[in-house]
Amino acid sequence: MRLVLLGAPGAGKGTQAKLLIDKYGIPQISTGDILRKSVADGTPLGKEAKSFMDKGELVPDSVVIGLVKERLTADDCKPGFILDGFPRNTSQAETLDGVLEGMGAPLTKALSIDVAREDLLKRLTGRRTCKGCQQMFNIYYSPTAKEGVCDKCGAEVYQRDDDQEATIKNRLEIYDQQTAPLVDYYTKKGILVSAMSDGTIEDMFAKVIKLLED
Ligand code: AMP
Repeated sequence: MRLVLLGAPGAGKGTQAKLLIDKYGIPQISTGDILRKSVADGTPLGKEAKSFMDKGELVPDSVVIGLVKERLTADDCKPGFILDGFPRNTSQAETLDGVLEGMGAPLTKALSIDVAREDLLKRLTGRRTCKGCQQMFNIYYSPTAKEGVCDKCGAEVYQRDDDQEATIKNRLEIYDQQTAPLVDYYTKKGILVSAMSDGTIEDMFAKVIKLLED
């Protein structure tokens, strides 16, 4: 399965991606995770990306597309992959189509995870991520058993710099302007499926599986 996950920041793309990895044994390619790692490692790419990320703006296409192209050619992507956070605009989507066509491996589906706007803020401000295994928690909905410590691997959990309220507003605006049009893009291609996320993580996962396997 070659899948793109669409949805506003905080919709739960990463959470569903982690469940899909376990079910299908295919890797998640999260451009946000790759960029955050480059920032943490202090690489030249990370230094370039940081200023955009801190403001909640998109990192230039030239940077992100290069990262994704390289990742897609890795052996573990042969059985399929879950793209999370990429593409973020039409130009990235068109480039992705071209790359996958060249590989003879077009997208199977694009899954849009829809969430009421009023829920997104709480999901984003409450979000915490494990520094070790990247497991996600939420201080309101799914807190760690011990504050600040990952239930799964025991590493420290942290709040992303860009999950502060001012940055969130900018990220949502950019999502509306640049990323939301991808719903139409994939609808026209006949591969869009969408689900409203208004229950538990497990409820949503059941809906997702049904849509992917129908
Ligand atoms: P995310 O973890 O997907 O919310 O991404 C965090 C930040 O990384 C975004 O706000 C952007 O600054 C940057 N980023 C992630 N994916 C992309 C992408 N496909 N294109 C441009 N910037 C991206």
